[in-house]
Amino acid sequence: MNKLIDLIEKLNDTHSLTLDEYEYLIDNRNDEATELLKNYATETRKKYYKNHVFVRGLIEVSNICKNDCYYCGIRKSNIYCDRYRLSKAEILGCCKEGYALGFRTFVLQGGEDGVFTDEWLCDLISSIKKNHPDCAVTLSLGERSKESYQKLYDSGADRYLLRHETADETHYSKLHPSNLTLENRIVCLNNLKEVGFQVGCGFMVGSPYQTTRNIAQDLKFIEDFSPDMCGVGPFIPHKDTIFKDEKAGDAELCCYLLSIIRLIKPNILLPATTALGTVENDGREKGILSGANVIMPNLSPLSVRKKYALYDGKISTGEESAQSLNKLKKSMNAIGYKVVENRGDINNNL
Ligand code: SAM
Repeated sequence: MNKLIDLIEKLNDTHSLTLDEYEYLIDNRNDEATELLKNYATETRKKYYKNHVFVRGLIEVSNICKNDCYYCGIRKSNIYCDRYRLSKAEILGCCKEGYALGFRTFVLQGGEDGVFTDEWLCDLISSIKKNHPDCAVTLSLGERSKESYQKLYDSGADRYLLRHETADETHYSKLHPSNLTLENRIVCLNNLKEVGFQVGCGFMVGSPYQTTRNIAQDLKFIEDFSPDMCGVGPFIPHKDTIFKDEKAGDAELCCYLLSIIRLIKPNILLPATTALGTVENDGREKGILSGANVIMPNLSPLSVRKKYALYDGKISTGEESAQSLNKLKKSMNAIGYKVVENRGDINNNL
């Protein structure tokens, strides 16, 4: 009996493993297991999404943040961070440019910037929806009250990304100051769901102090929470954080986990992240070949891309940029996939 292969068969059949089983699957992985998982994961995603890859235009709206997450380059106490905030007109300009390029989802991501009041954001969201009624708006703006999430949803936002970062409380407290808690993260995620958003959680692979058990807990959390989307990318150190000397997360493990997550929730929207494309040149292609089905090219104005530095070495002027969509289309075609121009909603029809 080969326990590893049996676990992969079980995951493929039941979409669930125990914590111990996830841990075993990660710690004992080998080439054979990786290939088998990848094959099951790509077969599964094809059932829901054929060979289609969804693209989202990522607009990095502000690097001003009131939080001090220890791993993050735009954390409030990084005095070397050159701060900026895009104006509404600039954001609408990015959407216009993105629309012409073929994007039908815009992701507004940024730090927890105090200027982003409900009123400011609702006005922006309704303007985007008015200009582009056939587009989805995704927000990734951190923790807010349920009332605030409700207002954003009512003004037209469709999706919200809020990574849980780690599903283990002790690990959470090693990555964040004490005013930020896993408990509140989970309250926010549940509130987002209740309000009606399509919700994304997620975590970094190889974040400082992360154990295999922690990753197993993340996978179990994803099973239980059943998000519509899940952002999983390698941790990459930033030179102006206390984790500057830590090593970056492993691309191979990240891809292995993408395959597992595809099998946990077959119709999930799963990005091959910019961080994965940063740690390896062909990281995003490898992510797609492991079961991911979303890519988020950068649509921010060129002048701010370097300033939105969550980690060192972020790719920002090459094929990951929205303006290079044609190159991305070619690189996806070369591996048997096709970039499509639609909103790319979750497929709940199967
Ligand atoms: N403020 C919002 C939030 O916290 O959800 C959105 C912006 S936040 C910078 C987006 C994500 O970047 C975080 O959820 C985190 O997982 C990721 N991130 C931050 N620092 C990182 C690093 N050093 N390496 C990899 N990913 C990082």
